Amino acid sequence: MNIHEYQAKALLKSYGAPVAAGVAIFKAEEAEAAAKQLPGPVYVVKSQIHAGGRGKGKFKELAPDAKGGVRVVKTIEEVVTNAKEMLGNTLVTKQTGPAGKQVNRLYIEDGASIARELYLSILVDRSVGRVAFVVSTEGGMDIETVAEETPEKIVTVAIDPDAGVTAEDSARLSDALELEGVARGQASMLFPLLYKAFIEKDMSLLEINPLVVLTDGNIRVLDAKLSIDGNAMFRHPELLELRDLTEEDDKEIEASKYDLAYVALDGNIGCMVNGAGLAMATMDIIKLYGAEPANFLDVGGGASKEKVTAAFKIITADPAVKGILVNIFGGIMKCDVIAEGVLAAVTEVGLKVPLVVRLEGTNVELGKKIISESGLNVIPADNLDDAAQKIVAAVKGS
Ligand code: ADP
Ligand code: MG
Repeated sequence: MNIHEYQAKALLKSYGAPVAAGVAIFKAEEAEAAAKQLPGPVYVVKSQIHAGGRGKGKFKELAPDAKGGVRVVKTIEEVVTNAKEMLGNTLVTKQTGPAGKQVNRLYIEDGASIARELYLSILVDRSVGRVAFVVSTEGGMDIETVAEETPEKIVTVAIDPDAGVTAEDSARLSDALELEGVARGQASMLFPLLYKAFIEKDMSLLEINPLVVLTDGNIRVLDAKLSIDGNAMFRHPELLELRDLTEEDDKEIEASKYDLAYVALDGNIGCMVNGAGLAMATMDIIKLYGAEPANFLDVGGGASKEKVTAAFKIITADPAVKGILVNIFGGIMKCDVIAEGVLAAVTEVGLKVPLVVRLEGTNVELGKKIISESGLNVIPADNLDDAAQKIVAAVKGS
């Protein structure tokens, strides 16, 4: 689960991280009062969307030369006019995709006088099986570009889970960031507290880009992007309250209610599959035969009829879906349960597009019998290859 920058900053502040004063607003009318709470003389109006690259982003509805999604201004009047211009419009950044994201919240923040912009992130480094800090002196720009052009400017420090962030780790990080004096002292406090927040809140990623050294020598967390491991959300009811459903796909929200692993995609073949590996293979083979999957969906090993019904409904409700491929290997999952789930869903919502069903494994004969006796217009398939060719042909023919 992702949260907004202002929420992430409030969280990090509760651990003692240095962040600027700021106020989140939902309506342009709140802009003036928000800015009046800040010291000035510089204010920053920041779009709150779950995507980075906002500063260099473009608003769809505004002129191409209009300013981006992060605006530095010098008066309260400008805070208000910029808030009016930004709220409700669609911001397109490198990370949003061409559709962009509607800006429904703004963060009005105290402007910083910046001397240096640095990069810092904490992530789970699978190659060493540890949580690691990734830092670079090249902050403010996207780290993928730095990794491509000047990989030597990125330093990774993996943390021993028993020892936590040691003085030695801190020194290595500060050296890599070329921090001296006051900033270095503050950083030696910052690294362990960020690590503590990361572990305690079950984060999968914490990215601070930029972490800045101010002209007065102090350091400050200027941007914060964080993701919480979805599998650990049950431990953090306080964080669940920060969830912003407007940032999520409706179909994915519905799927999460039934504990289905579902990701919406851009194609037109809806897939209902059990097992992540089989789901990936199904997507691959659809592509191989020249079409695109509309979703990734893993109904799981021991899904109930209710879960299968819900999954099928989510797929059929998507207007982009022009055909459905049910591809099930009944290991723990029984084929007759799948068949009954499909039947229940079709009875409830109808079937307007071609449906190819490939069943294999436990109770396969019973499953096939349920489908064939249902009177449904189903195209049966015998194996994955056959199934993919049939659904692609059916979708292209329609
Ligand atoms: P994004 O990464 O989505 O573009 P950032 O929060 O990193 O958004 O802001 C982009 C840039 O805007 C920063 O690199 C920094 O130069 C500037 N900026 C952001 N917040 C402030 C602030 N409070 N004061 C001064 N400059 C800021
Ligand atoms: Mg940033």
